[in-house]
Amino acid sequence: MRDFTLKSYQTLVKALQDAGYHFLTFEELVTAPIEGKTVVMRHDVDELAENALKMALLEHKLGIRATYFFRIVKQSNVPEVIRQIAALGHEIGYHYEDLSLAEGDEEKAMASFTRNLAYFREYYPVRSVCMHGSSTSKYDNRLLWEDRQFSDYGLVGEPYLSVDFNQVFYLTDTGYAWDGGKYAVRDVVESGFGLKFHTTQEIVKCIEEGSFPKKAMILAHTLWTDSWVQWNWLHLRELLRNNLKLMAKNNKGIAKLYRIMVDSYWKR
Ligand SMILES: [Zn+2]
Repeated sequence: MRDFTLKSYQTLVKALQDAGYHFLTFEELVTAPIEGKTVVMRHDVDELAENALKMALLEHKLGIRATYFFRIVKQSNVPEVIRQIAALGHEIGYHYEDLSLAEGDEEKAMASFTRNLAYFREYYPVRSVCMHGSSTSKYDNRLLWEDRQFSDYGLVGEPYLSVDFNQVFYLTDTGYAWDGGKYAVRDVVESGFGLKFHTTQEIVKCIEEGSFPKKAMILAHTLWTDSWVQWNWLHLRELLRNNLKLMAKNNKGIAKLYRIMVDSYWKR
């Protein structure tokens, strides 16, 4: 069976529901955590916004609410998609990358951050932000918070800064695998749970056996699709990209080439 389809996503959500997990939005996790088994389904909409909408519709059908972080770039920032996902009752947050877009100029970055946050608040009363990894940039977007308070911007938190991942188990689908962390450059989380999964089915089995952690945050990007053509194309692209990323770690020429390719892809 193909993995990372909406069908396999549904088996994951249903397994969590059957095991008695409560689904919280990220904002709820920070402001109103509850006892017992809880899980946050987080979606970083890096691109393919239409896929995010399909996932949001599925989650709505299954009776859960999730958190969607949108970027300002046009591949993510699709007004009709954001509007519909908000209307389904999901949380909308801002997937910020202002410091890397501003090439490290903090003043410029804060000006665009404030402007973009206000923009996303036209759709939803945004209270959460989450950095985009910007793997080809030398700037870590989180540095904006070194001497600033979330509350000054009407925010409650940021997944990478407000969650203790020794308490909350963190899973991410980087590179079409749940153990693809070696491909991630910046959005890496240290976790002390000692659990490792490759396929969604392995996670489902762990949940069914009752050995899945009581608190978890599951990050699923927008590459999940039931379309055979899109699924194959995206798998091929991710395979190439992951290998380029690995090679770029040791080779400056490839790193530069990769950066040029990524920059031209996101150009607005
Ligand atoms: Zn991202």
